[in-house]
Amino acid sequence: MDSSVYAFVEDLRGEGVERVLDRVSGYGAAGVTVGVVHHASRDVTPHGLSRLTVRHDGAHFPVPAELFAGLRLKPTPGHADALDGVREACSERGLKLHGWTVFLRNATLGGQHPDVTVRDCFGDRGSLTDLCPAHPDVRDYAVALARAVARLGVDSVVAESLHFRPLKPQRSFVPLGPMDAYLFGLCFCDYCMRRATDLGVDADVARDECARIVGGVLDGDAPAQGEVTRAALTAYAGPDVVAYARARSETVTTLVSEVASAVADEGSKLVFIDSTGAVKGYTDGLPTPGLAAHDAWQLGVDLVALGDLVPAFGVLAYARDAARVADDVGAYLRSVGKDREVRAVLRPGFPDSDSADRLVAKARGAKAAGAMAIDFYAYGLVPHPVLDRIPVALAEVH
Ligand SMILES: [Zn+2]
Repeated sequence: MDSSVYAFVEDLRGEGVERVLDRVSGYGAAGVTVGVVHHASRDVTPHGLSRLTVRHDGAHFPVPAELFAGLRLKPTPGHADALDGVREACSERGLKLHGWTVFLRNATLGGQHPDVTVRDCFGDRGSLTDLCPAHPDVRDYAVALARAVARLGVDSVVAESLHFRPLKPQRSFVPLGPMDAYLFGLCFCDYCMRRATDLGVDADVARDECARIVGGVLDGDAPAQGEVTRAALTAYAGPDVVAYARARSETVTTLVSEVASAVADEGSKLVFIDSTGAVKGYTDGLPTPGLAAHDAWQLGVDLVALGDLVPAFGVLAYARDAARVADDVGAYLRSVGKDREVRAVLRPGFPDSDSADRLVAKARGAKAAGAMAIDFYAYGLVPHPVLDRIPVALAEVH
């Protein structure tokens, strides 16, 4: 069974490439998935060079200038030397190298070019972190970025945030229900509205309806009850809003298709990760009831369509319960197709796994459900004793 450990460039820079890869290899993992393009964050790093690591938006390698010649959006420069020697060090140990790439989550680019970020139903651009996948400049950037990473000679380009993202305010003292937050997070930029209109959707009605509902809650109306489902959303916001939300899939599917082709052109392969599993279980490992594969449409991700276009998928199986992990993997395979490579991404420690036994149970569950690989998230975020659960789990599924 294939496997890898996710690692950040700050891990490699802090502890040294040789040391980190020796450990990954020692776990029995088949590869390492390095965050070659990542987003800004401030993380507790228990065994890092500093115990609190500040990450900046950036591409952590020398980006070929010709790929971005004539493009308005260019990658934010990161630690240009972070990957020096990594390819060779992986080869020496027989490790695969995967290039984990965050595409459309980039507050630096969004701040420099607010017009390429999502615009809500009120006409505001308040999510400068979120580049809109419908914007032509964003699409050009994503394709060029995928090529740049593939040219590093990686075994795969692991795509994160290559779709719409949910609304994430840092403070809200308004009790928005899940459906209110969903409507508030829909993008109504010119490009999104045009695409929906081309598909026969009345985009103006959809936007006005969202603004009416969300505006009502902001004015004191009771928030929506219950999770987002197509049926509940139809009842709450009407068919035009649902049609608008569904139309976002075309935007994402065509973008992912272009990116997958570019990656294949460069001799690598795309692993597509949708964030639905993280939206559901990131905080506490207790995901909301709907399986990730069934709710991915909410971010514009049509897994059935993507199954024909993308060779491999990562499932963020962020759950405490092994049965839930298996259910998520199984539902994913039924959506994308049984012959597709589905990789289960597991967190070996807090908040999903409180013991090696629990991690073993989830690895077994993922394998039994049809996962072809298990990836562990993430080297620098997890104490060494917890990382030591990885070889235990891998020994059980090999
Ligand atoms: Zn948009």
